[in-house]
Amino acid sequence: MSITQRLTEQFSEDALLNCMRCGFCLSACPTYRLSEVESASPRGRIALMRAVHEGKLELQEIAPKLDACLGCRACEVVCPAGVTYGQLLEEGRAAIAEVRPNPWPVRFAYRWILGTPGGIRLAGWGLWLYQKLGLQAAARSLGLIEKIGGPGLAAMEQALPAAASPVARAARRRITPAQSEKKARVAFFTGCISDIAFFETNQNSIAVLAAAGCDVEIPTGQGCCGAVHAHAGEHALAVAQAKRNIAAFEQGGYDYVVNSAGGCGGALKEYGKLLAGDPGWAERAAKFSRACRDFSELVAALGAPPLGEVAGTFTYQDSCHLRNVQRITAQPRALLKALPGARYVELPEADQCCGAAGTYAVTQAEGSDRILSRKMKHVVATGADTVVVVNPPCHLEMIEGVQRAGLADKIKVRHLADILAESIRNKER
Ligand code: SF4
Ligand code: SF4
Repeated sequence: MSITQRLTEQFSEDALLNCMRCGFCLSACPTYRLSEVESASPRGRIALMRAVHEGKLELQEIAPKLDACLGCRACEVVCPAGVTYGQLLEEGRAAIAEVRPNPWPVRFAYRWILGTPGGIRLAGWGLWLYQKLGLQAAARSLGLIEKIGGPGLAAMEQALPAAASPVARAARRRITPAQSEKKARVAFFTGCISDIAFFETNQNSIAVLAAAGCDVEIPTGQGCCGAVHAHAGEHALAVAQAKRNIAAFEQGGYDYVVNSAGGCGGALKEYGKLLAGDPGWAERAAKFSRACRDFSELVAALGAPPLGEVAGTFTYQDSCHLRNVQRITAQPRALLKALPGARYVELPEADQCCGAAGTYAVTQAEGSDRILSRKMKHVVATGADTVVVVNPPCHLEMIEGVQRAGLADKIKVRHLADILAESIRNKER
């Protein structure tokens, strides 16, 4: 049975019917808060999906409403009926992708670039050469990125940090021994674009884990987590990514599978649900997901290593999928508050999406910009000199926000792992 048939005939009927239309989710939803339009709310979107399920609307009619959803899943956290909105959204998008396929370059990139370890290596070389050979400067001055991918892609490209050297990536240690009393054996999930654009953050995550007492290994054969595929409706590719990663990690007998990207971690922890109906994989997927930990979750559980002085005023932007899927909010904040010499200021509406939402900032640039503008007002109000992030798309989005506000020389955007690693190094000096 095709996914379209599943949507119209079997579409997680329980989840649809579970919605009792109470509206508790409305105030948690960033797109509803901006528009106050029912069809931009979780309740409205569920009603639209239900109308398709009941044959009252065509799938194409509701597609723009599902496109405009961030997939942040803030609605799930507050729903008293436990509606599995994320599952409904992914099923809806998979059904839409069948009747309105993603453009071929996007499908090509999902299958052959992000879909294979070789493709990710190639992307690493491509981005590095693009920056090193001066093509980036030329493309920017000609406005090529905006012409090809629109203003959202152009803004994201402006925010990109220098890509890691592919040679340095290939030469890095596959095994990093614990630097203190050994407490756990960890397999590190590097991710796809995050390991290219934020290679140093991955390296710093590994260094902090080692300082906290972990032997850290990077298993070969791993690939993209598949979140980007699932969010774009490419269900079969998301499943293929999950199976690849499970197979790559299950041989090592690790205590934990750790990553430092909130969105990737959310996807990894849901492999068990994704493959629950596959008899050959359900148990393996559930075991894999049980072993997954966010970087901050494990460091906080093991006890932070000795920390040295780090000056500055920090504020923290939640990653939606770290907060709403993994339900991790306290650990990153506790680690930041433990930094000697630093001041922590809570960011108002830190629980609200920054507008990145995977590829949303590219595909829904206008809506993303409005969300980011609101976010930046709160950031400025904190008086912080550093916005701390824990997810690569949020990292890029917040850099874009700071650049657009003309504050790049006053406010830094840094991953929690980078700050902790600096603090540990300061202690060791
Ligand atoms: S909070 Fe849950 S049950 Fe209530 S309207 Fe929203 S999705 Fe439906
Ligand atoms: S996932 Fe986020 S944007 Fe989408 S309906 Fe839920 S709260 Fe709103």
